[in-house]
Amino acid sequence: MDICDDLRFPGNFPLGLFLQQTLCYSFGMPSVLIKNIGALVTGDLKNPLRHADSIYVEDGIIRAIGNGMSQRADVVIDARGITAIPGLVDSHSHPTFGDFTPAQNALSWITHYMHGGVTALISAGELHLPGLPLPPDPKTALSLALVAKRCWDNLRPSGVKVHGGTLLLVPGLKEKDFDEIAAAGIRLVKFIFYDYSLLPNGEAERYVKWARERGIKVKIHSGGVSRSGVSQVAGVEVVKRINPDIVGHITGGPIPMPEKEVEQIVNETDLYVEICSSGNSRMVLSLMCAVKIKGAFHRVLIGTDTPGGTGIIPRGMLREIAFLSSVGEVAPEAAVCMATGNVGRAHGLSIGTLEEGKVADLVLLDRIQGSVAKDGLDAFAKGDLPGISVVMIDGEIQVAGRSQQTPPPERSAVIEKTCP
Ligand SMILES: [Zn+2]
Repeated sequence: MDICDDLRFPGNFPLGLFLQQTLCYSFGMPSVLIKNIGALVTGDLKNPLRHADSIYVEDGIIRAIGNGMSQRADVVIDARGITAIPGLVDSHSHPTFGDFTPAQNALSWITHYMHGGVTALISAGELHLPGLPLPPDPKTALSLALVAKRCWDNLRPSGVKVHGGTLLLVPGLKEKDFDEIAAAGIRLVKFIFYDYSLLPNGEAERYVKWARERGIKVKIHSGGVSRSGVSQVAGVEVVKRINPDIVGHITGGPIPMPEKEVEQIVNETDLYVEICSSGNSRMVLSLMCAVKIKGAFHRVLIGTDTPGGTGIIPRGMLREIAFLSSVGEVAPEAAVCMATGNVGRAHGLSIGTLEEGKVADLVLLDRIQGSVAKDGLDAFAKGDLPGISVVMIDGEIQVAGRSQQTPPPERSAVIEKTCP
């Protein structure tokens, strides 16, 4: 219900007006109507574009999507014909604590990513913690995951949702440890520092079983050795043996497995496959050839695998979408789904789609002046970066007018407060 309607007093007595104006923002969040959207990308690969020009948001939730909607709202955003996409969900990031990364001794990276359209980050492990022994012993790995999860549940830099506390799987964990992380709300575990010479003892498979029984997803660092220098090579044989849910950075993070093995994973398994900005671009094209033949677009996820040795890339997700759209022969709206709805689904999270009943995490963007593109989606198709005008997370406007990390969009949304 619109809080303003609720507070409209009969006869508009001065007292009523006073209360309406002072109480307007006192209860809950302001409702928002976004109108005059050009293209609306749903994030759902089955139906990536929706013929609608309006979105109505109340209490941070998308309540209605339609055409020419005109209901009263506390805040009205005139999108002026630009494109709406779901907020980007980075499938592979490395937060540590707070809006700081020891990987590059840099501040405010999460805020910068938000200005690049990222509204949620999936942690692939808080493994950049200064002084963390690598590989960590089981108690250290478990403690780190629990502390990280509790901290990230309590902190959202610039509104960004950080799904942190990803447990780094090492030999020696017990089933009760999986009970503990499940009780803490951790929904992802990762193989990176596991000793694969131990695979014959069946412990790794038990980890996967224990995780699945508790609704926890399993990711593996695939390909060559990581920057840590202590991870082991994981090609098709190890991946198939462990049978995770998600093959982390299959195209390299930074080094991919051989091309033939990438194709085998696409053709011989149903696993999700991640493309990361820190990887091998040639392998992205090989992967997408195999994906196209197999019809497996629903299994492709986009992430950055940053911060790390590749640095901090606020526009990383946008650049990967543009690469897939312009060089990888993927429709731009489908590439956006790989960076939004696919990532949410793969990780068992209800984020990444623009539909009724879902959280209002979205981005409004348009072509940048001077681009040969017609609009935001066409910018991706031409390989150009689009300009971001608005970022909204849980119905709250985090970027209004223009992003600090992209050139300004040719058309910017206009935001009006109607209440008071
Ligand atoms: Zn990584």
